Amino acid sequence: MTASYPNTQLLIANEWVDAASGKTLDVINPATGQPIGKVAHAGKEDLDRALAAAQKGFEAWRFTPAHERAALMRKAAGLVRERANEIAPLLTQEQGKPLAEARIEVVAAADIIEWFADEGRRVYGRIVPSRNLAAQSLVIKEPVGPVAAFTPWNFPINQVVRKLGAALAAGCSFLVKAPEETPASPAALIKAFVDAGVPAGVVGLVFGDPAEISSYLIPHPVIRKITFTGSTPVGKQLAALAGQHMKRATMELGGHAPVIVADDADIALAVKAAGAAKFRNAGQVCISPTRFLVHNSIKAEFTAALVKHAQGLKVGDGLAEGTSMGPLANARRLTAMANVVQDARAKGAKVVAGGERIGSEGNFFAPTVLDDVPLEASVFNDEPFGPVAAIRGFDQLEDAIAEANRLPFGLSSYAYTRSIKNAHLLSQRIEAGMVWINQPATPTPEMPFGGVKDSGYGSEGGPEAIEAYLNTKAVTIMAA
Ligand code: NAD
Repeated sequence: MTASYPNTQLLIANEWVDAASGKTLDVINPATGQPIGKVAHAGKEDLDRALAAAQKGFEAWRFTPAHERAALMRKAAGLVRERANEIAPLLTQEQGKPLAEARIEVVAAADIIEWFADEGRRVYGRIVPSRNLAAQSLVIKEPVGPVAAFTPWNFPINQVVRKLGAALAAGCSFLVKAPEETPASPAALIKAFVDAGVPAGVVGLVFGDPAEISSYLIPHPVIRKITFTGSTPVGKQLAALAGQHMKRATMELGGHAPVIVADDADIALAVKAAGAAKFRNAGQVCISPTRFLVHNSIKAEFTAALVKHAQGLKVGDGLAEGTSMGPLANARRLTAMANVVQDARAKGAKVVAGGERIGSEGNFFAPTVLDDVPLEASVFNDEPFGPVAAIRGFDQLEDAIAEANRLPFGLSSYAYTRSIKNAHLLSQRIEAGMVWINQPATPTPEMPFGGVKDSGYGSEGGPEAIEAYLNTKAVTIMAA
């Protein structure tokens, strides 16, 4: 199958424009290694125009009734859903994931927008009984202001829409620096809002040099809130800059999810659910299961089944019929995976499935399972962000919990057990923002989504996500 792929421009004040300098970057298809299009590269002049538009957009949007904001957002969601079959191939071509996964990401975006649209209508304040009966004390929620968002390439649409949905529902304007490597699908998402009729400047889209743009936007007085998804080291830098300029911030950073498989687990379920989650999007997922901690009494059976699952996956171009795992999104990940496997092997782990690049064209890497991985191996400490499952045995559940909590990360976690007692214990004791038991991740918009410890702070789901874009104002009115 072949599909067309557009060049991507910047969106400033509801107009699609090239960078003032005319500068562009190439976009590469990770399945072929070939350039497929270009993306505009914004400079300071473009950013200044985008900031001025965001300020104007905020003035218009904050005074648009929540009811009307919701209607416009629902219209945009409808356009996204209608266009799913056109948007999904763009996503696959620039990012690599199989077309079916890309389509799910697009349709899920429509669902997320609709949920936030409705939730935005329920941003209530409160009336507090006053100490003076002549006074009325109110708590009012107000949008924090124009938002600068920075999003990565692994879920080019989903990473934008969780932030965009919450920000717009709260009444903020939203300027996003989306990923240069995967620009066309987030642009298609943003276009749906423009086509739905949001006022100019409510949404803005730029691409360019990530560090240059973030170091300009975060301190800028127009921007009142920043939100970032990406690696922990970059998140710490941006959070520090936000702190220096007293800007609100949400940080959705790296994870290193433990998967605890207890001796009483349904092994087939654990392999099916955690196996699918591990290799989805070729493992380039912040909530990807990574450290498989399996009770020694069932480890051989579990490992054999996971190996079978990994070897049964069809790796190929995401546009090709029947592909179940696409290429890695960029060549950096290919090098990283080769290093992860080499390091584990050198430290004594057994490579029981995959472990190597496939072919010499495109960024294909075999679904990989490592067994008896020592704690010192890098895969057990640093986020691999790729299709590598690392297994270790345990004897006591307490030891598995201690291992789950050993790392500074705390984003998602998984466990498989038939015992309610174990489930209860695990849900209380695992230090993570999300715990999924006997199932793969289900990050629906109505549930909070976010991490603890080095995985960041703030939430991108549930009412908490909207709260992050609101200021609280205390008002007391005395009857004069
Ligand atoms: P990276 O750490 O340089 O970049 C990660 C993301 O942050 C990219 O989208 C990049 O554009 C952005 N970024 C980098 N520096 C920035 C800056 N100064 N200001 C604003 N944005 C900036 O490296 P990478 O090779 O793209 O990804 C490597 C690692 O990042 C992965 O191994 C993974 O740990 C992490 N990552 C996490 C997520 C996630 O969903 N949490 C997504 C993508 C990457």
